[in-house]
Amino acid sequence: MPRLKLPSTLFPEPPPPPDDRTDVLVLGGGMAGLCAAIAARRAGARVILAEQAPRWRRGGNARHARNIRVPHDAPTALSPGRYPEAVLRQDLERVSGGTGDPILIDVLANHAGDLPAWLAQQGVLFQSPDDGVLPWSRKTVFLLGGGTAMMNALYDTAERLGVHVLYEAEGVALDLNGAARLRHRGRVFDVDSRATILATGGYQANRAWLRETWGRSAEGLVVRGTPFARGILMRALIEQGAQESGEPGGGHLVAVDARSPEADGGIVTRIDGLHLGLAVNQAGRRFFDEGEDTGSTRYGTWGRQVAGCAGQRAFVILDARGKAALLPLPVFPPLEAPSLPALAQVLGLDPETLVDTVTGYNRALTEGHGTRWRRLNPPRTPPAACIEVPPFHALPFAPGITFTGHGLYVDERARVLRRDGFSCPTLYAAGMTMGPALLGSGYVSGVSLTLAAVFGRIAGWEAASHVRVF
Ligand SMILES: Cc1cc2nc3c(=O)[nH]c(=O)nc-3n(C[C@H](O)[C@H](O)[C@H](O)COP(=O)(O)OP(=O)(O)OC[C@H]3O[C@@H](n4cnc5c(N)ncnc54)[C@H](O)[C@@H]3O)c2cc1C
Repeated sequence: MPRLKLPSTLFPEPPPPPDDRTDVLVLGGGMAGLCAAIAARRAGARVILAEQAPRWRRGGNARHARNIRVPHDAPTALSPGRYPEAVLRQDLERVSGGTGDPILIDVLANHAGDLPAWLAQQGVLFQSPDDGVLPWSRKTVFLLGGGTAMMNALYDTAERLGVHVLYEAEGVALDLNGAARLRHRGRVFDVDSRATILATGGYQANRAWLRETWGRSAEGLVVRGTPFARGILMRALIEQGAQESGEPGGGHLVAVDARSPEADGGIVTRIDGLHLGLAVNQAGRRFFDEGEDTGSTRYGTWGRQVAGCAGQRAFVILDARGKAALLPLPVFPPLEAPSLPALAQVLGLDPETLVDTVTGYNRALTEGHGTRWRRLNPPRTPPAACIEVPPFHALPFAPGITFTGHGLYVDERARVLRRDGFSCPTLYAAGMTMGPALLGSGYVSGVSLTLAAVFGRIAGWEAASHVRVF
């Protein structure tokens, strides 16, 4: 009697979805891309997400992030105090210097309040302020495990929901109808999609493009995050007639240790403590008031200043007391020497000039009181201490670029706008690809993730509406 032949598994795996046909194609797998892909998939669309990075490097800049700006009218489990939407709007208008689009700012403020709940639904964990380990923050919520944990959770959810993720898949061409071409592990092919979402971030890792406005200074920039932010597709759209936002040459810069890797050094490479010593350029001379900005904007101030120095490199000079006061401890140890001339030699500076700079600085501090330090050139805002107790130390620093302040313009439904004023019906943009439309070149902490999540979700919902069956 013939035996009944059973299949090797009772429920065989369905064949993988095709790489070249889908409802919604998402280009870029950072915060904006993941929020877009999940939103579109949950709304019923078949989704392909093409990410240029290999799996181990997935997540874009959000891997390095730690907090998200969220408005709330009353204290929540994640944020003390109140941060009304109206104040968030004002903050954005202020940092953009009045250039932020008021309608898009409204969209962001109106859609940001429920982000913690929505992200939690996608598996993201937040840190409770009651743990006592966080800086007090009324305006932002902190991620448990940081940005990498968040991106891993979002990828897990996307894949569990059935988003077809292609790693090492670079978008190499895109038009204003959303027609895209991918290069995936050596194979180049067009993707047939009903709608496409561009979420490839800025172009801070594209030195050739930066050189057009920055000149040779572009060579000295350190890329703080993903090395894949080259903006190839954004540029292609601008050349085809997409409307631009922000300014070429704009961007968010901070001071980072000059020994940082070329890209992906993350938040730990940021240099602080400039107010504890004095900063000299490669000629051994001071070039900015070390005490002028000690607020939360100080990182950005020094990023811009060092970008203007020859060779885009400078040094913080500290004595033993200044070094002892450094907090947080720098990830790269300060360079050390027993005397100032010896330190100059370690740094490749002219010893006489460095000694002259420090001596003149110390003399001004000793002879003057408070505001009289303004006679120094550049002046020095108090408090300040003489650089006199050996051993002497130095931290070399460079401009680190977080993202560019130049991108695309979108309408309130995240559709890419053309220069003739029309919206592209099947092409959307989200995240730092369009962030400059709200922020210009300005920034407030945590708003970048908010912007990526808000416009990513909107783009995902809108793109999915092209395939929804009612
Ligand atoms: C060190 C550091 C710390 C930060 N901390 C914070 C913080 O605490 N809070 C906050 O709000 N923001 C923070 N930011 C900024 C924030 O992380 C980013 O602005 C935000 O995550 C941008 O998301 P995005 O998806 O628009 O772009 P990106 O993160 O740049 O992601 C774009 C993705 O697209 C991929 N890609 C690029 N080109 C292509 C292509 N042609 N084809 C396919 N894929 C492509 C990239 O590989 C990348 O994965 C920080 C940034 C850095 C660098």
